Amino acid sequence: MISVTDALTHLFALTNELPSETVPLGRANGRVLATAVSAKRDQPPFSASAMDGYGVASEGAAPGAKYTVIGEAAAGHAFDGIVGSREAVRIFTGAPVPKGVDRVIIQEDVVRDGDVITIADRLDKGFHIRPAGGDFQVGQTINAPRELRPSDVALMASMNIANVPVIRRPKVAILSTGDELVMPGEAPGPDQIIASNSFGLQAMLRDAGCEARLLPIARDTRASLEAAFDLVDDADLLITIGGASVGDHDLVGDVAQNLGMQRSFYKIAMRPGKPLMAGTLANGAMMIGLPGNPVSALVCGHVFVLPVVRAMLGLGQAPTPRLTAKLAAPAPQNGPREHYMRAHVAHGELTTFDNQDSSLLSILSDANALLVCPPNCPELAVGTDVQYLPI
Ligand code: AMP
Ligand code: MG
Repeated sequence: MISVTDALTHLFALTNELPSETVPLGRANGRVLATAVSAKRDQPPFSASAMDGYGVASEGAAPGAKYTVIGEAAAGHAFDGIVGSREAVRIFTGAPVPKGVDRVIIQEDVVRDGDVITIADRLDKGFHIRPAGGDFQVGQTINAPRELRPSDVALMASMNIANVPVIRRPKVAILSTGDELVMPGEAPGPDQIIASNSFGLQAMLRDAGCEARLLPIARDTRASLEAAFDLVDDADLLITIGGASVGDHDLVGDVAQNLGMQRSFYKIAMRPGKPLMAGTLANGAMMIGLPGNPVSALVCGHVFVLPVVRAMLGLGQAPTPRLTAKLAAPAPQNGPREHYMRAHVAHGELTTFDNQDSSLLSILSDANALLVCPPNCPELAVGTDVQYLPI
């Protein structure tokens, strides 16, 4: 058995960063920027009015000053003339500031009578002009790698970047194994259950930016498993679920190795999730064999699969980040394996669930945290600072 940290090191050694592809801007949200992109223009491209009002020369602008309104500038409609010292231009937000204007008097500060405006007693101090290039200038970059968010998409649009280089989504194939499993919606026999882990993992992987597809459930026979491995195709990562313990029906490791899988490790000093396996398939794809118990499979997803996916996406080789909370109830003494306990965190206080049986998905669903109990940790008292993974 190896430690969680050593297992992650081995997993990262098997992980290849994926190549990039170009997607239209409208599809870039949530993707990882592969190479830096740079602004193709200044924003704003001209100095622009920040308010609705009157553009004037700032010199002499004071309560009582009068101006003749000689034209109008609106967004998308510049005023082409030159504005003299006693002249004003009606101007709207986003309009280019005409020559001769260096201040916008907001409309609330002006009394208008025909073509003449008079600055009222109250005069706002601001000049209300956005300088050209004040947001960004040609060549300003957005650096990679970066997980693109809606604000980044807006920024790139504004920079006139219509196509975005992003890391290709990891292609993941998910294989449930077991004679007892049927798909949701099917009618299970009296000794059957519904495959659940595969759906949880698919959701997790899609959230993390993967293309995740489910292979047909493999039965606990060599022939069925071999047929399933044949469907891995061009996946970057195969995730198998179950069949990885030492029971008579646990054939996954054996079949995989017969098909040329180079095993990197098997078994981790961790609860839940001991029978974890990883290696490289004959076609070069990475394989992670997860335990079958639903909670074990999903906890291993958080602890091992998500960091691998992030590394494939070029986001670095790091464990899933941990947060800190205070124990609201004592946490039990731990044995020699790192224990990930389902817990609930609210207002910075963490409480573990009493029943930690690794088959109980309902408790995983109630949990929003996994308390990390290091190996051989003594019982921890109320108020102790502890680390957890948000889930
Ligand atoms: P195994 O590792 O194959 O011995 O499976 C351990 C336990 O997890 C057994 O109770 C299986 O029925 C259950 N199990 C295995 N795979 C799945 C799955 N995809 N969905 C739900 N339960 C599963
Ligand atoms: Mg099984």
